[in-house]
Amino acid sequence: MKPDFTETETCLIEKAKQISAYVLTPVAEATDRGSRPNSTHFRALGEAGMAGLSLPTLWGGSDISSLAQREIIEALASGCGVTCFTLMQHHGSSRMIANSKAEALKACVLPYLAKGNSYCAVSFAHLRRPGKPVLTATPVDGGYRLSGTAPWVTGWGLMNQVVIGAELPDARHIYLWIPQDREDFAELFDDVSAPEQNWGEAIASDPLPLCAMNASSTVELTLTDYFVPEIHFLHHSDRETMQRNDRNNVLGPTAAPLGCALASLRVLDGLAEKRNLPAIHESFGLLSEEYSRLKSAVLEDLQTSSDNINLEKVLALRAEVILLAQRGALSACAASSGAANSLSHPSQRLLREAMFYSVQAQTQDVMSATLSALSCSVTKTAE
Ligand SMILES: Cc1cc2nc3c(=O)[nH]c(=O)nc-3n(C[C@H](O)[C@H](O)[C@H](O)COP(=O)(O)OP(=O)(O)OC[C@H]3O[C@@H](n4cnc5c(N)ncnc54)[C@H](O)[C@@H]3O)c2cc1C
Repeated sequence: MKPDFTETETCLIEKAKQISAYVLTPVAEATDRGSRPNSTHFRALGEAGMAGLSLPTLWGGSDISSLAQREIIEALASGCGVTCFTLMQHHGSSRMIANSKAEALKACVLPYLAKGNSYCAVSFAHLRRPGKPVLTATPVDGGYRLSGTAPWVTGWGLMNQVVIGAELPDARHIYLWIPQDREDFAELFDDVSAPEQNWGEAIASDPLPLCAMNASSTVELTLTDYFVPEIHFLHHSDRETMQRNDRNNVLGPTAAPLGCALASLRVLDGLAEKRNLPAIHESFGLLSEEYSRLKSAVLEDLQTSSDNINLEKVLALRAEVILLAQRGALSACAASSGAANSLSHPSQRLLREAMFYSVQAQTQDVMSATLSALSCSVTKTAE
């Protein structure tokens, strides 16, 4: 079921494909090996309107449909996984700010976020963790004090602000906006003072050394009595709502792994022509069919599902997409022979990116579905 896109959406999708092919892909391995996000990429993405996809036109965004955004994410992920992943964090956080009632904050930051003149990080995955919260928010006079460590904040340095989730004493969740440096947003702090003039402390770790997405500048952010004024409050939620949203959005994070699979297919296609080995042709054909089947199944589900989602079905589909990204990348490695192991070869990068997609936005259900799909292929082999 092919979605109908508006003229604006079609134009942005086309631009994303062009950027992916001509800006991202040619330097994807170099970008992946860089020590921080590729700022040239982010400039190009901002200029092409890719920063404001999820923002209302009122703020300078393009407010395109989620299906059109998926096409763009898939195209960008097929060019450069780390650039696309880092951009996606910005989309999520910008939308959370736009959906809030923090009017002064919205007027101050959204026009810049929409154009990619600045970027915003997001950190809330830790709220899924069971047990003692890793980051707490305590209500105080005029706002909240944050204490603890946010374990994953992607884009530190490129992004000069963060939407951060923490747990309140009554176990509800709270989402707040914080700047990397208050001085950069002086107008938002003009009329605000911290209780006892104590603003607390926010200390970012060095970027975490990572096997995949290393160039995403992902840090741990440790906050000690860090004061956030009430006017930077975005919204409240709770664990049950988060779990419900996760269940309603199981297929959300499938666009990037489909893009990863598409990139592996391109590698296989190139090799099929160059090496002319029947096994490579066959692998390319079978994996292409699987890519088309899964993409159609995901789109069909996203367009038809009612309030009553079939959780088992969508979890199985998410796992199939994760496995396709891995199979595609591993096939590209095998077909590339020893060269695949070179850090300048796309196949090894795609394989590491595929690994990342098996843990991104992971819930307990998604982990179970992934493990079940993986062990199911073992069972089939054993029969
Ligand atoms: C490179 C990188 C960058 C990232 N960047 C960001 C970012 O910018 N912002 C952000 O918010 N997140 C980010 N993440 C987090 C990412 O989206 C996933 O949430 C994360 O990879 C999951 O790993 P975890 O160790 O945090 O798992 P956990 O969240 O600890 O566990 C995964 C799931 O399993 C469940 N679970 C674990 N143990 C148990 C148990 N004993 N009983 C029941 N359930 C259990 C958890 O509740 C959770 O639902 C990043 C991750 C990586 C690897």
